[in-house]
Amino acid sequence: MERLESSQTRVSEMTARRDDAESSAKDAEARRDVSYGSIDAEVEKTTRDREAVAAAIPADLIKVYTRLRQQNGGIGAARLYQRRCEGCRVELSITDLGTVRAAAADEVVRCENCGRILVRTADSGL
Ligand SMILES: [Zn+2]
Repeated sequence: MERLESSQTRVSEMTARRDDAESSAKDAEARRDVSYGSIDAEVEKTTRDREAVAAAIPADLIKVYTRLRQQNGGIGAARLYQRRCEGCRVELSITDLGTVRAAAADEVVRCENCGRILVRTADSGL
């Protein structure tokens, strides 16, 4: 009899723990679904913003960028920062820096190592 009561108590405890775990799982699923909704909304907004920016860029440049992006793990252009391509992390040679330095401001320059379009800024080290 005592053993039966002990077992029933144990079953009750385990049932309560299971119910708590199920409740926690449902709460986590609800939070996850809210996060998915936020992520989906952000993706939609970013896609719209990107389309607006892309519309202002020449089609041939977008085509080159898109191809480079596909070839380089999703990054088609990278900042040239302190003489280093932030796409492949390789520092440009003196010769390549000279070529980039001599290029017109609106000319598209690319990294000799990875091929990505280099984005020049005041911090490029030119
Ligand atoms: Zn590079």
